[in-house]
Amino acid sequence: MSQARLTSCIPLPLEHKTLVNVIEKAKDWALMHGVGMRDKKHFNKDVIQIAPFVLLPSPFPRTEFDKAIELQPILNELMHKVAHDDCFLEHTLQNALQVDEFTASLYDIWVKVRNEGVTQPVSLGMLRSDIMLESRCPHTENQCAKHSPYCSWKQVEINSIASGFGHLGPVSREIQSYVLRQLGHGDLIKNMPENKALSGLCAGITEAYDLFGVPSAVILFVVEEVSYNICDQRFHEFEIAEKRPDIQIHRKTLNEIFEETHLNDKKQLILDGRQVAVVYYRSGYEPAQYPSSKEWDARLRVERSTAIKCPSIHYQLAGTKKVQQALASPGVLEQFMGGGAATSRVRDIFTGLYSLDFDETGERAVEMALADAEKFVLKPQREGGGNNVYGADVRDALLKMRHSRERAAYILMERILPPLVPGYVVRPGSPVPPPVVDLVSELGIFGVIIGTKDKICYNRQVGHMLRTKLADANEGGVAAGLGALDSPYLV
Ligand code: ADP
Ligand code: MG
Ligand code: MG
Repeated sequence: MSQARLTSCIPLPLEHKTLVNVIEKAKDWALMHGVGMRDKKHFNKDVIQIAPFVLLPSPFPRTEFDKAIELQPILNELMHKVAHDDCFLEHTLQNALQVDEFTASLYDIWVKVRNEGVTQPVSLGMLRSDIMLESRCPHTENQCAKHSPYCSWKQVEINSIASGFGHLGPVSREIQSYVLRQLGHGDLIKNMPENKALSGLCAGITEAYDLFGVPSAVILFVVEEVSYNICDQRFHEFEIAEKRPDIQIHRKTLNEIFEETHLNDKKQLILDGRQVAVVYYRSGYEPAQYPSSKEWDARLRVERSTAIKCPSIHYQLAGTKKVQQALASPGVLEQFMGGGAATSRVRDIFTGLYSLDFDETGERAVEMALADAEKFVLKPQREGGGNNVYGADVRDALLKMRHSRERAAYILMERILPPLVPGYVVRPGSPVPPPVVDLVSELGIFGVIIGTKDKICYNRQVGHMLRTKLADANEGGVAAGLGALDSPYLV
């Protein structure tokens, strides 16, 4: 079957000279407006290069975009409830914990903190639900009211830690607007939805700060040893600094937190003599970010403290792939959301998700994947991209671990097949002009939620980001070097 296609917002290819000219301008625009990253290959802290971007916005169906925006507060609330359901998390994660040391270490911190008694009942969730259009319609042609080339969208995953691109999302719209204007198509910008992700996410942080209620307290960003995605992170700081010059922000690695902070007798987290009000993690989601016991000790210390964490450890656990799979199991959404219309709307966004536990369902999933490996993705309990298994490798991996306990640390997911979109990808150092290539997009919707187990006091959809990759690439992380920044052009 040939893959469905969407049409570009303006006819392609562009004339050679026009293309070369507009790319040169756009690259400079990128450098001068923070559409940048640090180079992983030739690292130099003082040098920022352009982040890869798609020259023109990619088409995305308006009705599906609106549906995603509308659904986000419902997903926020669902995640909030899941994060606060101890029994559900315990039950869902128990098998994976036996074989996944990283998730087990997070889980141990959660258990310790619970046993000691929770010091900060308020959680700050800054979530990003990632979705892709599914071009395979489950209905036969005459049943389906919608037309090719898309049917609906499906959720790839929901992130509850370090949900990035609050700056790079909105600024992608700006650079593509600049390009459209340069090409004489400024009238099309009206079809690019406004995107206030940066201010929306930062408002979540300052809202939590105000809830903490200590005017001399500081905000702490937990960062990697080296932040490649520095523009995205720094613009969050700049935004808060501009709107709230009264608040001091620190950036520290987990190791620095271990060395430079302490808990006082009231379990307040103290840095440079001041209380920490909010801890915002942009690191701490993968094993390599905890090279020694010091980083784990730092994480435990923060978790035990009165600071409001984004995320609290139970929120991070709620964002695991295993939880996503469990939520798609029959009857589970109803436990959290009842049996109303919202529940069926959420159920609709799940594609096939299967447990690989050692029981009847798990065995059936293994058989199904072995029979048609290309249809599935195998996912471990990891974040940050580059961890999943695709295509023929799914079969090899399953055959290898079929009888080993390791299997329970993975979930099996049906592969989503998004429609193709033609476009130009501009990368640092890549030949100009680039060819027109087939691309596929993944839309991320940001949500902010603040509350305690029993009371949600803030729940909003705050913006979006679009990442686009070559149609034949498995993954499309921009920081990982495979994807490119993009923004939706509603059709
Ligand atoms: P991570 O938490 O590491 O980002 P994801 O579940 O988002 O893990 O997977 C990484 C990438 O793999 C996604 O951004 C997407 O490009 C691709 N991917 C993941 N699941 C699917 C799927 N079911 N169908 C198609 N592509 C997928
Ligand atoms: Mg993720
Ligand atoms: Mg992802």
